[in-house]
Amino acid sequence: MAFLGIDIGGTFIKYVYENNQIKKGKFYVKDIVEEGDREALLDVIAEIFENHKSKAIGVAVAGLIDKKTGLITNSPNIKPLEHFNIKEALEKKLGVSVYVENDATLAAYGEYLYGAGKDSQILICLTLGTGLGGGAVINGHLLTGVSGSAMEIGHMTIDKNGWLCHCGRKGCLEAYVSSYGLERIYFFKTDKHIPSSEIILYANEGKKEALESLEEFSRYLAYGLMNILHIFNPDKVLLAGGIPEHYPAVVEMATADLKKLAFPLPFRDVSIDIASLGEFSGAYGALGLAKTKGGGK
Ligand SMILES: [Zn+2]
Repeated sequence: MAFLGIDIGGTFIKYVYENNQIKKGKFYVKDIVEEGDREALLDVIAEIFENHKSKAIGVAVAGLIDKKTGLITNSPNIKPLEHFNIKEALEKKLGVSVYVENDATLAAYGEYLYGAGKDSQILICLTLGTGLGGGAVINGHLLTGVSGSAMEIGHMTIDKNGWLCHCGRKGCLEAYVSSYGLERIYFFKTDKHIPSSEIILYANEGKKEALESLEEFSRYLAYGLMNILHIFNPDKVLLAGGIPEHYPAVVEMATADLKKLAFPLPFRDVSIDIASLGEFSGAYGALGLAKTKGGGK
């Protein structure tokens, strides 16, 4: 039986297809997203499906999916999908069962089924990208919440008078631990605004301000990890996204700070690692969702 997992991002649509073996790919869609062309976006998915016929499709989207109405709410990077029922639309268009879930939640599920989170009892996955996403898989089950809005870890407040977050609140963890958070930390040190990828490049070249910025970034990350440890007592926390992938030292630095901050008991039993599926973790999770819900593991 064949299954398809699709991850709709603001820049790319990625897919992972399983039919005896795994195949993956991606399509550039930034222009479509910016034009706000919902139909064109659905056409890209239809094209992927045409070439990868499957029994069911799992879809990962950046945004909250209201469990009661099926509508996608708050999807700042993919405006065409806001207040839209993508499950219904795709099922009608493709004539196959479609299951939709938040992308960070599915990134955790992907890592649990196919990546660095295999056999984890309580797995938390943090996706450090433009924003900060969180997902949890507990005893093999996705933690999605009653409404579909669980695990908004990026928006836990770590300083009530802190920096402004993209969500409009002050002092969210994401305001510090995200690519724009890192850019802001660097800006306050140097008065220069450069992309996070460049800061990482400078840090890898050993440049002082960049190294200091990533140290500070890691300290904020440690506070987020401390809260996660105290609430979930997980055995595994995985960090996904460009920053930990290209500058893995943040994991060691944050873990060293975490040791000083957290209760010793949950610290003893957790391991903090880098996610292993890279940019495809969400698509792998979507594939897992299609298999779990769409019949036949
Ligand atoms: Zn926020």
